[in-house]
Amino acid sequence: MYWEKEIETLDRKSLEKLQVDRLTGTLGQAVKSSYYGRISEITDFVESGIKSIEQISELPFTTKEDLRNNFPWGFLTTGKKEVIRLHSSSGTTGNPIVVYHNRHDINSWANLMARSLFAAGVRDTDVFQNICGYGLFTGGLGFQYGIEKLGCLSIPAGAGNSLRQIKLMRDFGTTVVHAIPSYLGRLYDVFKAEGLDPRKDTNLHTFVVGAEPHTEEHRQRIEEMFGVKAYNSFGLSEMNGPGVAFECKEQNGLHIWEDAYIVEIIDPKTLLPVADGEIGELVMTTLDRQAMPLIRYRTRDLTRFLPDQCECGRTHRRIDRISGRTDDMIIIKGCNIFPMQIEKVIMKLSEVGDDYRIILETVDSQDVIIVEVEVKKDWFSGDTTFFDKLKKRLTHLIRDEVLVSPVVKLVEPGSIPKSEGKAVRVFDCRKK
Ligand code: ADP
Ligand code: ZN
Repeated sequence: MYWEKEIETLDRKSLEKLQVDRLTGTLGQAVKSSYYGRISEITDFVESGIKSIEQISELPFTTKEDLRNNFPWGFLTTGKKEVIRLHSSSGTTGNPIVVYHNRHDINSWANLMARSLFAAGVRDTDVFQNICGYGLFTGGLGFQYGIEKLGCLSIPAGAGNSLRQIKLMRDFGTTVVHAIPSYLGRLYDVFKAEGLDPRKDTNLHTFVVGAEPHTEEHRQRIEEMFGVKAYNSFGLSEMNGPGVAFECKEQNGLHIWEDAYIVEIIDPKTLLPVADGEIGELVMTTLDRQAMPLIRYRTRDLTRFLPDQCECGRTHRRIDRISGRTDDMIIIKGCNIFPMQIEKVIMKLSEVGDDYRIILETVDSQDVIIVEVEVKKDWFSGDTTFFDKLKKRLTHLIRDEVLVSPVVKLVEPGSIPKSEGKAVRVFDCRKK
C-alpha cells in the first residue's frame, strides 16, 4: 500500500534519471540566489548541464556557516513576494538558520509528509494528535500540512500540558500521536498518576517519534509503556523539516525520499564518500525546492546506508537511525563518545527512567564524565544497598560501552531539569 506507488517503487535506473533531470533544474534555480550565483563550479554546470549523478561530487558543499554568513536573504532564489513561509532553527549562537518556501515548496513538503505517514501505516480514518510546538519549529506546521493532506482528523495540540493532551486523546479518540521521544516517558507518568492505562483508556495504535536523537532501546521502552508501535521520523529544517526520511511498517531503517533529495554519506574529515554501509556524515541536495534549493548540504548527522531492498517494495534507500552528530561528539581522556552510546545502556535498565544528563567537569585538572540518571518512582526507596548495586552496574555497563569510567549519580524521579523542546543531554562545564 503506497501513497504514490509509481514514484515510491520506481526502479533505481529511472530514479537516477529523474535525479539527474531534477538536479539540472535545481542548479538552474539555485544560481538565481546571490550566494550560488557567484560560485563558478555551479554556474559552469548550469551551462554544460549534468549528465550523470556521479557528477554531484564535482559540486561544492554548503555548510551551516554558509547559511549563517549569508543571513537573511543570500540563499533566496525568488522575490520575497513569492515566498509564503519561513522556518528557522534554534540558532543558539550567531545568526539563526532560515529556510524559505514558496507555494510549490509547501505543497511538495506536505506531500512528502503524507507519503511518509502513509508508509508508517497512518490512514485518513485516523485521529492524529500533533504534540509538537507550532511556530518556527518545523515539527508543528510541517506535520500539520501532511496530516491534512493525508486526510486524517488533525488535532493541532501543540507541546506541553500533559493533562490536556490526555483529555484530548480520550475526548476525540486519538489513534496516532507525533511527539519527541524525550516527552513520552513524562506523558506516561501523568497517565499513571491519573490512574489511567494508555493501553486500556485510549485508542492509540501508532506513535511517530523523531526530531531528536534516540536509541532503539528508547523506542522499545516507549512501545512497551504504551503498547503501540513507534515509527522513527527524521528531518531537519534545512531540508524542509519532517518528511525527509521515515520508517515504513517494517521498522528497519528510514526510507529517504530520493526523488526529492540526492543523498550522500561522506567521511567528515576527508570529505570523500565512505564505503557502502559505513557510518559517515549525511550530505543532502534538494531536488524539488524552488525558493531555497540547497546543494550538497552538510547536515552534521551521522548515519549509514542500509543494504538490501526493503520488504515493503519501496525502492528508495534506507538510512540507519542517526547515531549522533559530528558536533555532538564528546572527547574525554582521548576517547570519542557519543551521548547515544550512554543512552543505549541507560534504556536497558528497567530501574531507571528516561531522563538523564551528561555533565563534563574538570576535577584536579582531570576531565570527568558525570552521568546523572533518574531512578524510577517504584524503585526510589531508602535502600542504600540497592542504590550501590545499581550504581555499580551502570558504571560498569557505561565503561564497557564508552571505555571511560563515569561517575554515576542516581537522582530522584523528576529532579533533572527538563527543557521546553528537544532534550538537552550534555553540559560541558570543563575548564577551557
Ligand atoms: P534544531 O537544530 O534547532 O534542532 P531542526 O529542528 O532542524 O533544528 O533539527 C534537526 C536536527 O534534529 C537534525 O539535524 C538531527 O540532528 C535531529 N533529528 C531530527 N530527527 C531526528 C531523528 N529521528 N533521530 C535523530 N535525530 C534527529
Ligand atoms: Zn520499507
